[in-house]
Amino acid sequence: MAGNDDLLKKIISHCKEYGFIFPSSEIYDGLSAVYDYGQNGVELKNNIRNYWWKAMVQANENIRGLDTAIFMHPLTWKASGHTDAFNDPLIDNKDSKKRYRADVLIEDHLSKIGEKIEKEVAKARERFGPAFNEAQFRSTNPRVLENQKKKDEISTQFAAAMEQNNLAEVRQIILDCGIVCPVSGSRNWTDVRQFNLMFSTRVGSVSEEAETIYLRPETAQGIFVNFLNVQKTGRMKIPFGIAQTGKAFRNEIVARQFIFRMREFEQMEMQFFVKPGTEMDWYSHWKEKRMKWHHTLGFPAANYRFHDHIKLAHYASAACDIEFSFPFGFKELEGIHSRTDFDLKNHEKFSGKKLQYFDPELNESYVPYVVETSIGLDRMFLAILSAAYREEQMEDNAARVVLNIPPFLSPVKAAILPLLNKDRLPEKGMEIYRSLRLSHNCYYEEKDTIGRRYRRQDAIGTPYCITIDHQTLADDTVTIRERDTMKQERIPVNKVAGIIDERVSIEKVLALL
Ligand code: ATP
Repeated sequence: MAGNDDLLKKIISHCKEYGFIFPSSEIYDGLSAVYDYGQNGVELKNNIRNYWWKAMVQANENIRGLDTAIFMHPLTWKASGHTDAFNDPLIDNKDSKKRYRADVLIEDHLSKIGEKIEKEVAKARERFGPAFNEAQFRSTNPRVLENQKKKDEISTQFAAAMEQNNLAEVRQIILDCGIVCPVSGSRNWTDVRQFNLMFSTRVGSVSEEAETIYLRPETAQGIFVNFLNVQKTGRMKIPFGIAQTGKAFRNEIVARQFIFRMREFEQMEMQFFVKPGTEMDWYSHWKEKRMKWHHTLGFPAANYRFHDHIKLAHYASAACDIEFSFPFGFKELEGIHSRTDFDLKNHEKFSGKKLQYFDPELNESYVPYVVETSIGLDRMFLAILSAAYREEQMEDNAARVVLNIPPFLSPVKAAILPLLNKDRLPEKGMEIYRSLRLSHNCYYEEKDTIGRRYRRQDAIGTPYCITIDHQTLADDTVTIRERDTMKQERIPVNKVAGIIDERVSIEKVLALL
């Protein structure tokens, strides 16, 4: 397995080399934080989206799908709070001219203090062995106490400054903590300013009459404004959910870490509408369901953890993230939020239209509460690649890179490989390829040594390679090679389709949820 430090770099170059992800408009030197999915990337991305869609929409009798426009009436974003409050505080270093998120600089500083404490504890644990009393050490060691005090004080001061939108105070904290620009090493900082993350554009052909509209920063609002349309036309009874996937756009200040933080990305969101008072039960329900969806992929459970939010967004009554162990540490992969009736109530207010559900059992109308699950498709893609990427030493000492992707998600399900490019082996291979390609994404290749062809399939995560050799012509059998074990089995040609159907079946995975 590659070391964590360079794993991200390896994944980025692997993605480029094997047609998963290219920098956008690369011939013009790319566009920061925007990426294109190549021939294998698009298949993997479609398969992940399909897994989400089937698990949410098809496997739940009370969830329906939706596909709303990226452009929405500008009042939508007033009502949701994005026009006024979807901001990040930014700060520039005057020497390096680099821009940072002020809150991220402070949070990074706080985690460094946290790391110092943990190092101190780890050292003591080693020194004292089994007799080590961690709680006592944390509450008495002077260096730990001093750092903990520093950390608590900065956290409190920072939380208050953010709460009061006191940007001068945020800057002061950066100065007081002695935070330096990682590029120039200087403390020559500008003022802190709020920066709205929404991209705007204009509609209308005459610019004076044009109205400013926004590229949606989340897909959720398209669901809220259609809540009654779906409820009425779909004859839905509460509790029920509406799900959609689609592009979202955020003018992120610092967009690093490959497809983890992009300016154009895709979300998969589900809003679940419930009776007020039942939201905490549904919140727990969706927390558990969503974690199971992740675990069912079969990667180690230790890669995932919940992170409960202590400081809640203005609209939330409870919120947590499912974090994933990315190559750069545990980071948010998915958010689960109890959003109260904040969105629907505000849309009522701004539109002047009622967005209420008539509950036939109670014989009264109310604005439902909402529990949301929201995951980034691109982040999920990166999570899968991070967990699946392996460098292996084989028995003959040769090395291979293999993507250990769950077979039902793999871009190519089977590669059909005639051993030699002669003796009617290609014709037989083509015949098998044609018989499979309408059911599964398959690949046919007759050039190059068989070893190199296997390596290339391993590198894109193809679970099965079917090899046609001279024996095939004699007895109508082929070998089927499994990606992870590299074991080969001889099977009759007429069994190939059945074996592949069975082993890459998404239905079998969905049945486990
Ligand atoms: P972060 O704190 O990382 O900026 P967030 O809390 O703003 O994320 P949400 O608004 O809750 O994110 O969006 C839901 C999901 O959308 C996130 O869990 C993440 O998977 C995805 N997402 C958000 N912003 C981006 C982005 N810039 N690039 C890729 N995916 C993103």
